[in-house]
Amino acid sequence: MKFHIQSFGCQMNVYDAGSLCGLLNAAGHEFTPNLEEAELILLNTCAIREGAEQRVRGRIGQLKKYKDQGTLRYLGVCGCMGQKEGERLTDSISFLDLVMGPGAIGSIARLVEALERGERPVIDLTGLDEDFDEFHPPADEAIHYPRFVSIMKGCDKKCSFCIVPYTRGGECSRAPHIILQEIETLAQRGYREITLIGQTVNSYRYGEVDFAALLAMVNHMPGIERIRFSTSHPNAATPDMLRAAAELDKVCEQLHLPVQSGSNRILERMERDYRREEYLERIAYYRRFFENSIIPPAVTTDVIVGFPGETEEDFLQTMELLKTVRCDAAFMFKYSPRRGTPAAEMKDQVSEDVKAERLERLIKLQHEISHQLNNAFIGKQVEVMVERIGADSQGAAVYEARLRTGRTLKLGESEEAYRIGDLIKVNVTDSSSYTLYGIPCERKAKSIVA
Ligand code: SF4
Repeated sequence: MKFHIQSFGCQMNVYDAGSLCGLLNAAGHEFTPNLEEAELILLNTCAIREGAEQRVRGRIGQLKKYKDQGTLRYLGVCGCMGQKEGERLTDSISFLDLVMGPGAIGSIARLVEALERGERPVIDLTGLDEDFDEFHPPADEAIHYPRFVSIMKGCDKKCSFCIVPYTRGGECSRAPHIILQEIETLAQRGYREITLIGQTVNSYRYGEVDFAALLAMVNHMPGIERIRFSTSHPNAATPDMLRAAAELDKVCEQLHLPVQSGSNRILERMERDYRREEYLERIAYYRRFFENSIIPPAVTTDVIVGFPGETEEDFLQTMELLKTVRCDAAFMFKYSPRRGTPAAEMKDQVSEDVKAERLERLIKLQHEISHQLNNAFIGKQVEVMVERIGADSQGAAVYEARLRTGRTLKLGESEEAYRIGDLIKVNVTDSSSYTLYGIPCERKAKSIVA
């Protein structure tokens, strides 16, 4: 059967889509990028904000035409929205055939068999509490970056605004030998960079192996030259973990540490379990390892504005924190109530107008900081890895590459033809808030990608 998968939301979903694809291939099904010929379409969904769910509902409506035409036999919803809504989805959408949660990924072939036998709707919300030691072979697709490797799933933190612990269950770490086996397979296929992912990736623990120890193991793997990881929780950012991230030579100089708010009062209501002072200490500790570096490490964060009860004073403390930390980038969102979470029940919800106004001010501030930090790169020489190859309006190749710090760089005036995975030295010639521009100065190594 020909199938298609569309992913929404976070990096975990991108990884899960690869697992679904690999498992369906192994069961004799074939991926198609073409919706017109897909007999099975899976929407791998996100439930973190209301807007994400609305996008999925809109997409389901758009896909109905393929059902009406008769080309699409089965339409399924997987991921966090599948887990959260369960049979409410099939009750309200008559042409939906399959609903499953993230814990049921390993059962996808069996669920498709059930559809083929005529069962309908098929619903599987089980598996969230099961061990995470299976190895899902990655689908045999072309090399692309970022290449995620999931090392843990779920979350034990239960922040008061977050639906994830309910849709993905408690924390469960994968056995180190299975993670290393997956990375070895990727290295043999030509991958030079991998990104370790987990809901709170630095909470990883399998027996005696914690996240710092796992990083050291991955750092030894032949063929891998760059290691990234995301997303970290400030409370699991221990001195050992931060030291390993800073000192291991293949681990990129980049730390994504979500703060969510700069107000201790709001952090307490969010049940984040740290204070702004502790957050600032951890950032300062990490940065101290790079005091003599020409290229400073990148620090990025997540911020929620308009959390219930957030006053103008609380918000100004968040602005102040961003000015103090001077993050390279920040992912900033309006608070979105999620049914079933404690914060959604709080009485003092902030109006949408106030949320929008605060978000605009925060984005403006971060935009200025990012621009200043990017400007400081002009005239410097940096190493980048080619990630994407496009074309300009004249058909000339346009290369998009990434620094070790995670910044995006667009390559211009290149006489050489590069391939995805090439590591090259570049002189930075210009910048905007989110992108650097540069000219290659020397070629360090040829990609082993054919
Ligand atoms: S740490 Fe908090 S925000 Fe992050 S996934 Fe867990 S509950 Fe959600």
